[in-house]
Amino acid sequence: MSLHSTAAPSARVAAAVRHAVATGLLGESCPVAGFVDTDGVRDTVAALHDAFSGLAGAPGGPGAPRVLHTFAAKAASLVPVLRLLAECGMGCEVASPGELRIALDAGFAPSKIVLDSPAKTREEIRRALALGVALNADNLDEVDRIAALRPANSVSAIGLRVNPQVGGGSIGAMSTATATSKFGVALRDPGARERIVAAFAAHSWLTRLHAHVGSQGCPLELIADGIAQTYRLAEEINDRLGTRQITGLDIGGGLPVNFADDSVRPTFAAYVAALREAVPGLFDGRYALITEFGRSLMAKNGFIGALVEYTKDAGGRRIALTHAGAQTATRTVFMPDAWPLRVGAFDAEGRPKDGPSLVQDIAGPCCFAGDVVAHARELPELRAGDYVVLYDTGAYYFSTPWSYNSLPRPAVYGFGTSGETGQDGRAVRFAAVRDAQSLESISAESGLAHADALLDLHP
Ligand SMILES: *Cc1c(COP(=O)(O)O)cnc(C)c1O
Repeated sequence: MSLHSTAAPSARVAAAVRHAVATGLLGESCPVAGFVDTDGVRDTVAALHDAFSGLAGAPGGPGAPRVLHTFAAKAASLVPVLRLLAECGMGCEVASPGELRIALDAGFAPSKIVLDSPAKTREEIRRALALGVALNADNLDEVDRIAALRPANSVSAIGLRVNPQVGGGSIGAMSTATATSKFGVALRDPGARERIVAAFAAHSWLTRLHAHVGSQGCPLELIADGIAQTYRLAEEINDRLGTRQITGLDIGGGLPVNFADDSVRPTFAAYVAALREAVPGLFDGRYALITEFGRSLMAKNGFIGALVEYTKDAGGRRIALTHAGAQTATRTVFMPDAWPLRVGAFDAEGRPKDGPSLVQDIAGPCCFAGDVVAHARELPELRAGDYVVLYDTGAYYFSTPWSYNSLPRPAVYGFGTSGETGQDGRAVRFAAVRDAQSLESISAESGLAHADALLDLHP
């Protein structure tokens, strides 16, 4: 993937950077922050809803499937972001007690929450059932656990996750449908289909199948193939049971994101077209559909801004020492080839820099040599006091910080831009989403309350 950092930033991002610097949200005392483009989020959710509406004729008309679009909370686990998504009509997919808690705090109705934790404890299952949130069991032992804990009058929809074993994409760690993936019931293993059918036969409340085929790096055809296998299994189960017990198919998320430039590809519409081709019956209204997109809803609607603290030369390479490193771009730092990011260069006033480009490393503030978010990148020459912007980091970046070196969680702001352009460009309004972590909080989370705890262990 070639990352042309000389491309002009989108007008909204440029306006937000300029205003963040002008208003001090980015500066010496707050040298790194994440930003969420709320207009972009609304537009993206609308595009998702449009792509799935009117599939079998008129929107919402006869024959069109009911669809619940949930947002995979792990992609942007920030209460105000989740609340915005709830307000836009989304449900929420959660995969831990913490994610369930923040989804509830964000205001999602339990009926619009789906719990997919890979290793659900009995306590977690009990709580989900008490709330009435939907659950997808990861395996048949978990189905047994749910059976033992489920009150007869439970309103929770229960599904079973399968692994269609259609293979992996270009990033191993993101591929959930390989032969030996840890997720779901491995569908092609000997005897698996029979065991699955038996489980559905034994439990009439088991009414959904779930498959999340993969995330970034998985081609659309692979995802569509995995969903086609899942659909076929649902048809087989319903046929063999002689009743339409399976009423819902949860087709997961995983639409890949283009990190190379500003264009959105593939689009949700292209995804729906690929699914229609691979699984026409999916859309004829016989199954309710549940989706669980994360990255594709948020990645392009966020960026990280960071101050350039120093620049230096080493071994003939120019290095910019910035405040955005592994603490906020963890995957990119550890797997630079799988997760390259576009970097923008901005001056001390927050205006896009131009001028001749120079090969530079963009390094972060962590104390290990690999803490570099972009290697040998051609960018206008950066100087101390300038800013770098890491584009497309609205999912799985600033919302998922790493506390290495006791670096603080960076602040996150949402922004909205009005269409008007004044002397300063577009008008931008900011709202705090998460405060930067304080030194007091860092110490508290480092066990301050137990400061003397280890001194008394010695007899
Ligand atoms: C992570 C995950 C998602 C979201 O994946 P994206 O690639 O962010 O769309 C959806 N469903 C499940 C079960 C997941 O684990």
